[in-house]
Formats: sequence, structure tokens, C-alpha cells
Amino acid sequence: MGEKNIFLELRTMKGLSQEELAEKVFVSRQAVSRWENGETTPNTETLKLLSRLFDVSINTLLGSPRPMVCHCCGMTLDEASTSRETDGSYNENYCKWCYREGEFTLDYWQRYAELGGDEGFNRFKAQLMDEFNALQIDGMPRVEQLNVLTGSYINLEYTLPSGHKVKLLNDQASYLGNQLECTFGGSRCFGIAANMQFLLVCTYEANGANPELVLFKQR
Ligand SMILES: [Zn+2]
Repeated sequence: MGEKNIFLELRTMKGLSQEELAEKVFVSRQAVSRWENGETTPNTETLKLLSRLFDVSINTLLGSPRPMVCHCCGMTLDEASTSRETDGSYNENYCKWCYREGEFTLDYWQRYAELGGDEGFNRFKAQLMDEFNALQIDGMPRVEQLNVLTGSYINLEYTLPSGHKVKLLNDQASYLGNQLECTFGGSRCFGIAANMQFLLVCTYEANGANPELVLFKQR
């Protein structure tokens, strides 16, 4: 937010006097004045209150000292992509696609701690890649990486042999997946997606056009 002190800027934008802001976050007017002069920084509890009051993340209040990334998918977080708790407060550890309404959208992450944290998550990804690679699908290259993908971006509609159209993913959930170029060349790509329950392999043209389901397999 430029050179101007962020606490001063936000208070002015909100049309509050130093006294009024002080009262709202249970500090003295002098404390507010000291933040605005850059002499002190609010304590953690006060930062939370200010974050709610001004609807900006704590990271922004602190002058964005650390680049924030989603602990689940690794994307860089800004104000617009940061998740929120059900009460509207920011959860600055996750993006809004991986964590929504107080819950993780990737099933593994709902049980992340119980399943062994980062190490367990990497093992799970390696396991999924092994399972994809064991399928030996013609034209599909080796899977070397899986990314967290939101259902709404990859939920293609497949036409079954019966002529019925079907979507197999949940728009609100996240999956581990990737896009792979067909080793035979041509314009079709492989799309893969998985969670703790199943593996999905499909092919499609640019931008997901004319999708065809190759495999949908319970794990
Ligand atoms: Zn994320």
C-alpha cells in the first residue's frame, strides 16, 4: 500500500478516529498512534481483531513480510485467493480452493495430520504416481508429478457407450492430477486425476474439448 502507514491508511479509509479504532480493538489511543508512527506493531490478538475489522489479511497488516503459499497446493496467496474460516476471518495457510467453509477440499488433507503430515502426503503422491504408471496405458507418458487441481476446473463431461453423459468429479472437491502430452503426438492430451478413492484417466483436445474417458478405477 505504498509509503503510507497501513494502519493509518486503513483507519482513514474506514472513517474512524484514533479513539474510535482504539475502542473497537480494546487498546489505548496512544497504542493506535504508535502503530501509525511505526513505533510498535499490534500484538497477535489485536492483529486478528484488526484483520476482521478491516477485512485484510494479517500478512498485509504486517507489510507482507513473507510470501505466502498454500500449504496444500503450493500456490502463492494474495488477499483474493486466501481461504477464510466459516466466520469470515482469513485462514492464511491455504488457498480458497483447497480450504473452503472450514474444510479441506482434497480428501487426503482432511486427514493430513493423522496420515503423517508432509512426509505422508509425499508418500501418498508417490503411491498414486506408481498406480498411474502401473496402468501401462498406450501413449501415456510416465507420471512424474501431481498437482492439486480443483474439481470445477477438471470436471469434464464424458459420453458413455450408452450415449448418456456423465461427470465423475465433484466441483467443490480437489484432486491430485496432471495433464500429459500423448507420446504418439497429435492434438489430444491425457488428463489424470485421483484422490484417496479412485484413479481417473481421460483424453481431450485443447481446452478440454471432446473428452473421452479412458479409465475410472476404484483404488
Ligand atoms: Zn491450495
